[in-house]
Amino acid sequence: MSERPSSLVTETPRRAVVSGVAGFIGSHLAQALLESGTTVVGVDRRNPATDQTAGTNLASLHGFPKYMHITADLLTCAIDPVLFDADVIFHLAGVPGVRPSWGPQFNDYVGSNILATQRLIEAATRLMVPQLVVASSSSIYGSTSGGPSGENDVPRPASPYAVTKLAEEQLCLAHAARGDRPISVVALRYFSVYGPRQRSDMFAHRALKAALTGQPLRLYGDGHQRRDFTYIDDAVAATAAAAAAPNAQGIINVGGGSNVSLLEVINIAESLVGRDIQIHTDKALGGDVPVTRADPRRANELLGWCPAVDLHDGLRAQMRTMTQSAYDNAAA
Ligand code: NAD
Repeated sequence: MSERPSSLVTETPRRAVVSGVAGFIGSHLAQALLESGTTVVGVDRRNPATDQTAGTNLASLHGFPKYMHITADLLTCAIDPVLFDADVIFHLAGVPGVRPSWGPQFNDYVGSNILATQRLIEAATRLMVPQLVVASSSSIYGSTSGGPSGENDVPRPASPYAVTKLAEEQLCLAHAARGDRPISVVALRYFSVYGPRQRSDMFAHRALKAALTGQPLRLYGDGHQRRDFTYIDDAVAATAAAAAAPNAQGIINVGGGSNVSLLEVINIAESLVGRDIQIHTDKALGGDVPVTRADPRRANELLGWCPAVDLHDGLRAQMRTMTQSAYDNAAA
């Protein structure tokens, strides 16, 4: 799984903009597009020279002559030169995470997820960019009965983060529906993406880190929350397919098909590493819903996409890169 399958991106755009390229999903997507021959303009507000995570994520793009990097904040930058001549924009820039969205950082969520998106799509339509793929989130479904969530279900966002993601996808779809400036929009509702370079605030990373280091794992709630974990290569394949598939538009769930509890992830992490995890239980936080589970049918019909990587294999691949980077840091 360290080698990305060459079939991951089937039909390739000539020139793509990837916003949020210094992030977890954006850096993997940019790499897959470059490997398939696409020219990629990557934009992110984090400066890889000063931000270690951004630097690590972007290292995978070094050496691709068709890669162009721009450090810029989409909320304030001159946006037309970024989007110039693009066939497709993959808009992954955003402020993720449920918990901090309850706090004073909420302004940043509104700024990046809503206001910057409005600037981006206004410019995209003005410049006649034909396609936009925007990152939405499973969190917009809120608390469900536990069954699979379909794209036509009524959204019940249960956190400020989820509200901003719902606003973001609906803004893009509203622009697409105007009709006078044709742009095709696909909003992908990602479900708990994990794998190498996963954000350090996310559960799989924290569980593997606790197993690898012996440091305690803070578990919010009883651990019976269930998630539809999606391996990064599968998420990237769905994202690339959203630009390539002729009939893809509107909202599409991207769920990995693993309906698994956090306690089960802890068990897998323990067995992969061979060490028990010390758990510090804390009270469940608002917006941390009991179940997320994708109805996968639309993704299958419109994108011809099915997840391919099982949770155990995906976590093993993630663990290996975490072990490797610990060695690299120790050696540096
Ligand atoms: P990430 O934080 O690793 O990447 C997001 C990137 O966007 C960061 O590098 C950040 O610097 C950049 N960014 C934020 N605001 C910006 C701005 N105003 N201008 C320029 N760059 C800006 O997050 P991720 O996990 O890769 O998520 C990518 C997208 O997918 C986000 O929109 C997130 O809401 C969405 N999403 C992710 C998941 C998941 O499981 N990772 C699930 C659902 C939705």
